[in-house]
Amino acid sequence: MKVWVDRTVCENHGQCTAVAPENFSMNKDGVMEYEEAVSDDDLDSVEDAVDGCPVQAIFLMDE
Ligand code: SF4
Repeated sequence: MKVWVDRTVCENHGQCTAVAPENFSMNKDGVMEYEEAVSDDDLDSVEDAVDGCPVQAIFLMDE
């Protein structure tokens, strides 16, 4: 699976970084960065990040 974030709606509050730190992190400028590739082990966490994003900016898709 692969994750994609719509930067036009992401507000960089970072909820995803708390829920799925394997794929999402905040850089020193306070901007969220993410790793597109989602491992099987991290899929549940990334799905929680999708559900928890307050602006529904995170999308999971097949490669
Ligand atoms: S939870 Fe959503 S809005 Fe917040 S940083 Fe992550 S993708 Fe952006």
